[in-house]
Amino acid sequence: MPAFYQPPHRILLGPGPSMVDPRVYSALAAPIIGHTDPDFFGVLQDATDLLRYVFGTENECAIAVSGTGTAGMEAAVMNFVEAGTKVAMFANGYFSDRLTEMCKRQGAEVARLEKPWGEVFDDDEARAFIEREKPQIAAFVHAETSTGALQPAKAICDAAHEVGALTIGDCVTSLGGMPVEVDKNGIDIAYSGTQKCLSAPPGLSPLTLSPRALERLRARKTPCVSWYLDLKLIDAYWGASHRYHHTTPISMFYALREALRLCKLETMEARFERHRLNHRAFVAGIEALGMRMHVAAENRLWTLNTPVLPAGVDDAALRKRLLEEFSIEVLGGFGPLTGKVLRVGLMGVSSQRNYVLLLLQALETCLGGSGAARAAEAVYAGG
Ligand SMILES: *Cc1c(COP(=O)(O)O)cnc(C)c1O
Repeated sequence: MPAFYQPPHRILLGPGPSMVDPRVYSALAAPIIGHTDPDFFGVLQDATDLLRYVFGTENECAIAVSGTGTAGMEAAVMNFVEAGTKVAMFANGYFSDRLTEMCKRQGAEVARLEKPWGEVFDDDEARAFIEREKPQIAAFVHAETSTGALQPAKAICDAAHEVGALTIGDCVTSLGGMPVEVDKNGIDIAYSGTQKCLSAPPGLSPLTLSPRALERLRARKTPCVSWYLDLKLIDAYWGASHRYHHTTPISMFYALREALRLCKLETMEARFERHRLNHRAFVAGIEALGMRMHVAAENRLWTLNTPVLPAGVDDAALRKRLLEEFSIEVLGGFGPLTGKVLRVGLMGVSSQRNYVLLLLQALETCLGGSGAARAAEAVYAGG
């Protein structure tokens, strides 16, 4: 008989999952109650109120779909993209390719505007593409975890609304770490995941719909092809009638509620500043090692960093050593960035000064070189 499972103590500095706060672990251990218990509806209501705060929205619909971030992505596509729907896709990394694939499986007509991995679309390019394609849906990845680049949302959403399109924004790696500002940016359908900057375990996908999107959802004539991800049915469970749809993952809702409560306790402003500071310190350390970042300074995510590996460094061997000697998890690049970059997540609880310093010291040891941790210290000291 196998022994009780005790995972190794890891420092999670990869593209997710991130580390989990002890208070969120405590929330997970609370007793199960039923998914139709009036007390549980209070948990859902708290989650909605807190999600509005974290997303930066006053949307009526702010929920969490059962499943990881990909479930939110699939819910967005399945409920708003049908056979023949014209979709304008901003394609500059792996997750926009995944969105493209989902749209194509729905039978959509997808027009793609492409950029190399690590670059982003400027306002004029975004506007020209949407004016030319006149789509019904424009989709983009706000924080591209495969590249480390942040795609500004406002120009895409403004241009989309001018042609009557709705926007889908993947906020999986930005929500809880960088401003998403759903209302200010005008993102109609925004989704995220619990295990990145919200620092809860993987298993739920927060999602919010603008009044415009909710109206289009409710006006849909044909039923959503996916029964499980049908947002009309899920919305009815969250709404006043609380109509049974599926058994919600109760413990994960306790965890999400607590993770969101911790966002509110810290305040989003302080949280963004923390992510920005740790990112800046990490970059200073990387540059002190004579390395450079893959993404141009003005387009970098604070939550996912892609330092370029020095020539001749074996990516897999380096990561194996970081894991075995330092118990630090970081991941490598994939697709066009295979073997070229590291992917270092500083998300949620993982975005802390001691982890930044530890990783930089570990990199000094593994790569040779010095001064990385000192350069980071200078940033923390206000340099
Ligand atoms: C992680 C991620 C996803 C997928 O989320 P899962 O939780 O792995 O299903 C989607 N989009 C982006 C940008 C991500 O980083």
